[in-house]
Amino acid sequence: MARTDYISRAMTSISASISASVRPSAAPAPRVPVPGAFVEKVPLEQYVPPSRPSLVGLTRAELAEALAEAGVPERQRRMRVGQLWNWIYVRGVRDFDAMTSVAKDLRAALAARYTLARPEVVAEQVSSDGTRKWLLRLPSGTAGEKPHEVECVYIPDTVRATLCISSQVGCTLNCSFCHTGTQRLVRNLTAGEIVGQLMVARDRLGDWPGGTRPTDGVIPSGDRAVTNIVMMGMGEPLYNFDAVRDALLIVQDGDGLGLSRRRITLSTSGVVPMIARAGAEIGVMLAISLHAVNDTLRNELVPINRKYPIAELLDACRNYPGASNARRITFEYVMLKGVNDSLDDARALLKLLKGIPAKINLIPFNPWPGSRYECSDWEQIEKFSEVIFNAGYASPVRTPRGRDILAACGQLKSETEKLSARERLALRAMAMSDDGSDTADDDAVSGTAAR
Ligand code: SAH
Ligand code: SF4
Repeated sequence: MARTDYISRAMTSISASISASVRPSAAPAPRVPVPGAFVEKVPLEQYVPPSRPSLVGLTRAELAEALAEAGVPERQRRMRVGQLWNWIYVRGVRDFDAMTSVAKDLRAALAARYTLARPEVVAEQVSSDGTRKWLLRLPSGTAGEKPHEVECVYIPDTVRATLCISSQVGCTLNCSFCHTGTQRLVRNLTAGEIVGQLMVARDRLGDWPGGTRPTDGVIPSGDRAVTNIVMMGMGEPLYNFDAVRDALLIVQDGDGLGLSRRRITLSTSGVVPMIARAGAEIGVMLAISLHAVNDTLRNELVPINRKYPIAELLDACRNYPGASNARRITFEYVMLKGVNDSLDDARALLKLLKGIPAKINLIPFNPWPGSRYECSDWEQIEKFSEVIFNAGYASPVRTPRGRDILAACGQLKSETEKLSARERLALRAMAMSDDGSDTADDDAVSGTAAR
């Protein structure tokens, strides 16, 4: 069978947007270590809002409070919130003075207290395949501390384009094959910093009314430069639940950014207690980083499995609100040579997922300096994929994208823990030399930005 016969199409539909909020996000509580047990990293930094916070990322209720602070009488607030929402999320304005339907006095009162700021873009890289990566700077919590940085990746195709968004600086967890997991520093992003990533992408892509598209890279031909969103950047979104929820609800809001929840995919390593809440309160498409078919191996690859083993995780998937054949759950499976890539593993995977409306997304492992795994051989990925395809599943292999700019899965790691120039070169060389799987079709979500 030809490779493309079973390297399928369609992975996640995604879409969403973002918001910027000024509230500190809840940090996971410190835990008492138990020998051999799974322990989350405790955030080292808390968010400290700037003296003039951004209105981007506030919920409508929070925006009404902000207006009250600026002296807007209660009877006018609802109407004013609607006006601001339109200026911020439909028009994308970055300056209160552009809000011509808002009285001058109020514009001045708002500008004295707030901004419309998004994360600051420190660098933009455009890959030879059209993928774009932005390095974004966020304020640090402590005076004198270096600012934090996260990456956001834009992956265009001919008819759609996916934005891969981060939810944390670093990650609370430490999956053994993931570069982000090695990062020491963790800070939860605010809702504003999450929505802000979509705002930045739309700013840079000239994607607001009257905007001008860049002349380089690739942008799909339709009206929207960003059609889908994946929460697959740095961090574990379900460890930053409130901010991710507020941000994704803003992204879905029909009077603003208006991305359908079917075009937004949230990927989790398996924070079981939060999965039902994600379904009920956010309602987006779900992706699960499964990666292993037995608890012994998954404990090693995805250590949160020690806390929430496979059976519990799959139960949560069976109960995920809205899961159906039309809205399948995506199971991500990273292909690690000699570790999880045997045909017995493929068959065990099918058995595990029986009865769950599922798609299986095979991800070629992206190596990084110091990683202890190798990517499976292409022939093995094909054989694995074929077993899955023959059982009636779509089994897209995620095309690595943006490898020349280190934008592919598992390669995102912000400069907060700076790579030496030599490490960066080594990483780039590794990424470029592993060229076996650039053939998946354009429906596969590719190059997502796991850390
Ligand atoms: N923390 C969430 C979302 C971000 S990770 C999660 O783990 O699901 C997004 C995807 O990239 C996950 O499936 C993750 O397992 C995968 N990934 C991480 N490092 C990778 C690497 N080096 N090569 C390939 N995929 C990787
Ligand atoms: Fe965190 Fe996801 Fe990386 Fe695991 S794979 S360390 S959960 S970003």
